[in-house]
Amino acid sequence: MSGSLVIQTSFLGDVILTTPLIAELARRGPVDVLATPIGATALANNPDIRTIIRYDKRGTYGSALGLWQTIKEIRSRRPYDAAYLAQGSFRSGLLSILTGARERIGFASSTGRVLYTRQIPYRPEKHHAERLWSLAFSDCADPPTREQIRPRLYPSDEDRATIDALLRPGGASDEPIVALAPGSAWGTKRWPYYVDLARRIADDFRVAVIGSKADLPIAHEIIEALPPGCVVDGVGRLSLLASAELIGRALAIVTNDSAPQHLASAMGTPTLAIFGPTVPEFGFGPLAERKAVAGHGGLTCRPCDRHGPQRCPLGHWRCMRELTPDYISSLLTEVLNPPVPV
Ligand code: SF4
Repeated sequence: MSGSLVIQTSFLGDVILTTPLIAELARRGPVDVLATPIGATALANNPDIRTIIRYDKRGTYGSALGLWQTIKEIRSRRPYDAAYLAQGSFRSGLLSILTGARERIGFASSTGRVLYTRQIPYRPEKHHAERLWSLAFSDCADPPTREQIRPRLYPSDEDRATIDALLRPGGASDEPIVALAPGSAWGTKRWPYYVDLARRIADDFRVAVIGSKADLPIAHEIIEALPPGCVVDGVGRLSLLASAELIGRALAIVTNDSAPQHLASAMGTPTLAIFGPTVPEFGFGPLAERKAVAGHGGLTCRPCDRHGPQRCPLGHWRCMRELTPDYISSLLTEVLNPPVPV
């Protein structure tokens, strides 16, 4: 049994952005993917994947015994023609050797690069979906089409039924929805005026609030600020792919630079992404066809961190505080009403 193994144990957004690479490799043969439990959830139902192998580097499987069990599971499927290191740690590199894959391919900038048989240039100027996609090519590939680097997710019938049920109690399943994703794991990446924006949107649309259990406090602020019946509460109660389905049904989403932005790219939902301490030039901007990016253009301190610190190191947090609700509302109007070609 041959084929490819993609090793991607990074953040959820990175996992979603790896789906174009997986699709490219699937055109050549079977593809297995090694992913964390949350990554595996995102990749469920993906027709380009033969098997998802779970690797919980923080849980039971993070122990030496667990690691060995994972390796044994992978080796039972060998020989792989190649392992693709979409996550570049030394540990992943080591894991790729132990799998017995004949080739180990990763970025020339990765920590584990000394363990690779082939190094691919990491091109900082490209979107990360394109960088990951380029791992499939030994030479410089032709520039990809938009479709080739569009990430994809595959909600199930059950996910669709969950969202049908969530939308129906309001008796307004056909009412247009705008989604808001106010959360982020990093404090400085959370735009602070979602409540104000939600009140404005609710004049014309239902507001769907998206997020995990960690986002419940801000979500409740939004929900309590809106008249009942104007809001769809999708926070902390939906599976990842059900959240993607809900985002997919929205006319547009307003999101921070966080995972929902990538869910929206995968579902093709018009996206307004708000960037504070980070910038889209890092390669993680929205990929939906209709999109806009909000960011403070006049700060020398920006970007200040690859991920975004929990607190502003300068204390003023101007990168987010000065992105006013008026500014964000006007960008959202543009996303919702693209100019008509003449
Ligand atoms: S230092 Fe600048 S970019 Fe970083 S959080 Fe503060 S205001 Fe934002």
